[in-house]
Amino acid sequence: MRRTAPPLGLITIAAMLPPHWRLRLIDCNVEPLHDADIDAADLVMTGGMLPQQADTFELIRRCRELGRPVIVGGPDVSSSPHLYSAADFRFIGEAEGTIGGFVDDFERGVRSGEYTAPKFQADVSASPKPRYDLLDLKNYLYLSVQFSRGCPFTCEFCDIIELYGRAPQTKAIDQVLTELSALHAMGYRGHVDFVDDNFIGNKKNVKLLLPHLIQWQRDHDYPFEFSTEASLNLADDMALLQMMKEANFFTVFIGIESPDEDTLTATSKKQNTRRSIVESLRRIYGAGMYVTAGFILGFDTESDATGRQLIDFIGESGVPVCMVGLLYALPNTQLTRRLAAQGRLHPGYDVLPEGGDQCTVGLNYDPTRPLRDILLDYRAVLQAIYEPAAYIRRVEHLMEMLDRSERGTNLSEVDVRNRVDPADVMRRILREVPEAKASFWRCIRRCANDNPESLRMMIGLMVLYLHLRPFSRLVIQAIDRRIASLPEGDSMSPPMHRSFAPSLREEPMRFHRSAPVSSDRPT
Ligand code: SF4
Repeated sequence: MRRTAPPLGLITIAAMLPPHWRLRLIDCNVEPLHDADIDAADLVMTGGMLPQQADTFELIRRCRELGRPVIVGGPDVSSSPHLYSAADFRFIGEAEGTIGGFVDDFERGVRSGEYTAPKFQADVSASPKPRYDLLDLKNYLYLSVQFSRGCPFTCEFCDIIELYGRAPQTKAIDQVLTELSALHAMGYRGHVDFVDDNFIGNKKNVKLLLPHLIQWQRDHDYPFEFSTEASLNLADDMALLQMMKEANFFTVFIGIESPDEDTLTATSKKQNTRRSIVESLRRIYGAGMYVTAGFILGFDTESDATGRQLIDFIGESGVPVCMVGLLYALPNTQLTRRLAAQGRLHPGYDVLPEGGDQCTVGLNYDPTRPLRDILLDYRAVLQAIYEPAAYIRRVEHLMEMLDRSERGTNLSEVDVRNRVDPADVMRRILREVPEAKASFWRCIRRCANDNPESLRMMIGLMVLYLHLRPFSRLVIQAIDRRIASLPEGDSMSPPMHRSFAPSLREEPMRFHRSAPVSSDRPT
């Protein structure tokens, strides 16, 4: 196993192409892309989100150098098509309604073009079953399916609602079950992620799906454990929570963003207001799901107290894995339009700075607080929450609330997670985090005694810590460099933006030249 998840977008596009086109998937997260691979293709298809931007630029450059046509699509291309003008073909918006026209054009010799889908009109229920057969399943920690696109909420910084709309579309129940059956038939057992922008965005339809999903799991002896992404109002619907529990969901990502009510209101995250967020999380734990949460620093309403508030809130939340980032004005959002109107947006804001990612290069606009103060808060939060004792306190706190009763504790023999040996995890923790020895042991002993059904989850969270700790340190080092580069007294300086350079990995798919043609995420 080499990577967490496969490129679901590319294998979905692959399923929309004619059966006589010979396809090959090269996932650059898993294997290198050689010039010979590009040279052997009639057409290279790639694209993705902002984190894949630099690699997509680089792949376009390589294809042009080798004289092979390249087509790009996905969220970043849809939001910033002007950045991808070097590609031969551009897909803007969802591909379901436009790919047929492209195929016709390509087969009759057209070698460049732009295909723009009308907004929010793609028929997800007509989207074909992804080409899972193109994947080498052993390369991935988990596999992915999609049920819905879009979200009904209005968060100011979010591009989902601009790209996919506020009336979430869903696949048909049979479509989802067919996709799961395909994975099952391939022998896959284990973790399956619903990659939806907001799994409960269309509550009516998800409540229609879940009874069938529960039955499918029963009929197949619960081969899968599910994860997904949802809004916090999940906690308000006990029937929905119960169905997700019965369907075997074990974790959910939730964007909390900030514990501060004024900030949530100002950024239009109203679904997180007028509630005790901690109490809402507790209800989700009661349904057997632990929460991974997103937090953001850099909102206009923040103050000198923000960093401390966030550290205290996270400590109280029982959320071990917190994805804390700096606010980034994504192209094509309400936030970006407001900042542009206020003259606060930095030039080149839509190009990811060299070597950067959204953890380290956010704040691509003039913040209301001194940039140095926000960066210092960010560093302090990361330092505090990923200190070993703080992390294990949250794991223990979660263990007191997580109700995994009535859930199977055994994994299938072929589940890749079976390869995790608890003794090996403890040996690594002792080696890499020796100061945490006593507290990690205490947590395991308590869990084994008081909540044995949750022990596997707790050990999984400890495994994650072996990644999170060094990762948080890397981010802190990058933030330190950014702070050091700030001119004295010039706290509003924008980060250096660059033109084109590779950073993260692209996910190209290519076509063999021998294809009989006369002539090429989520979310
Ligand atoms: S809840 Fe999530 S997906 Fe929905 S608008 Fe807010 S940030 Fe976007």
